[in-house]
Amino acid sequence: MKQLEKRLRGGLVMMQWSERYDLHGHSTHSDGELSVPQLAQKIASEGVEVWALTDHDVISGWKEASGEAKQRGIRFIPGVEITCIPGLAAQKTILEKEGRDRSTTSWHLLAYFPTHDPNIDSQSITAFGKWLEPFAEGRIGRMKRMVEKVNALGMDIEFEAVMARSSGAVGRPHLAKEMIEKGYANSMQQVFDEWLGDGCPASVEKIKPTIAEAVNVIHAAGGICSLAHPIYYGIESNNLLSFIKSVGVDAVEAFHRSHPDKYRMELLNGAQKIGLKVTCGSDYHGPSYQARPGHMAVPSSYLPEQII
Ligand SMILES: [Zn+2]
Ligand SMILES: [Zn+2]
Repeated sequence: MKQLEKRLRGGLVMMQWSERYDLHGHSTHSDGELSVPQLAQKIASEGVEVWALTDHDVISGWKEASGEAKQRGIRFIPGVEITCIPGLAAQKTILEKEGRDRSTTSWHLLAYFPTHDPNIDSQSITAFGKWLEPFAEGRIGRMKRMVEKVNALGMDIEFEAVMARSSGAVGRPHLAKEMIEKGYANSMQQVFDEWLGDGCPASVEKIKPTIAEAVNVIHAAGGICSLAHPIYYGIESNNLLSFIKSVGVDAVEAFHRSHPDKYRMELLNGAQKIGLKVTCGSDYHGPSYQARPGHMAVPSSYLPEQII
C-alpha cells in the first residue's frame, strides 16, 4: 500500500485510497467455507464497510446477507460471479510470462445490483434469477459426471457424500475435500493439479453463457458488471480491456487478491484510458484458503459510481 502510494505520487492525480470495500467473496451458497452469518461476522471484524457477496452462479444468499450486513452497520451490495465462456483465446506468451501452463476454460464475470434491496420483490431481478438457474443447476449434473470420472480412475467416492458437503451450489472444492478425506490426495492444490483442474483427467466442462450475453442480461436487470481476476486468462492487458469494453462490461477487477501490484496498476491505467471503472475483491473462500477477507486497497474514485 505504502509502495503503491509512493509510486503514484509522481503521477498527475493524487488518488484517494480506501480499504472499505470488499466486492468479491463466497459463502456456503457456493464453494465458500463459511455460512452467510459467519462470513458477515468475519467481514465486519476485518473493517469492511461495503460488502458484496458474489457466490458462483447463485443469488440464494442475498436476503440473509442483507439482514446480517444491516445488523452490523455494513452496506450490502447483492452480487454474483457468473461463469462464462472465455471471450478471447489465451496467448501462449502471456501464459508463460505468468508462469501458467494452461489457461482457464472460463472467464468469471462479477455482477452487482447496488440499487436492489433483496427484501423487496423486483420483476427484473426475478427474471435475472430465472436466467441464471440453468447455469447453477448444471453444477449438479456436472458433479455427477465428475464423480463418475474419479470412480473410473479407481477412487471410491460417493456422489451423496460430495453433495452433503455443500449447502448451495456444489462445486469442485466439495469433491476435492471428499477426495482428501478418503486419502486420495494430501491437499486441495494436489487435487486440482492432478485431477480436477481445467483440462485434467476428472474435470468436466459446465454450460455457460458468453460474456456479451451475460452483460446484456445484467444491464437489463439494472446491474453493472466487472471482469473478475483477469490474471488467470492469459491475455495482454490492452487487448483484454478493449475486448471487455467492446462487449459492454463496465469495470475490471484490477485489485484482486492474486494480482501483483504492477499488474493492478497496469489494469488501472489501461482502464482509465478507455473509460472502464475498476473494482476490488479479496475473493475470500474461507480460512483454509486465506486468513482474512477485506484489506483490499483501491483508489475509490475509480470504482463504479453506483458502488462508491
Ligand atoms: Zn472467480
Ligand atoms: Zn470468486
